[in-house]
Amino acid sequence: MQCPECNSTHIRKNGIKEGKQNHLCVDCSRRFIDKYEPHKGYGDDVKRICLKTSAEKPFRPV
Ligand SMILES: [Zn+2]
Repeated sequence: MQCPECNSTHIRKNGIKEGKQNHLCVDCSRRFIDKYEPHKGYGDDVKRICLKTSAEKPFRPV
């Protein structure tokens, strides 16, 4: 985890905002949401749900 502003790794957790982990850079006080790292596991879950949903939908020819 790095600060997008100053690239510092001196990051503190700053609570959860809108379901996402919020971070605070100790060096420049910049606040940012964890969206720079790929979501491990989370993306797979979404993909699985999407696949499941589309598989359960009845096929309707146009
Ligand atoms: Zn910073």
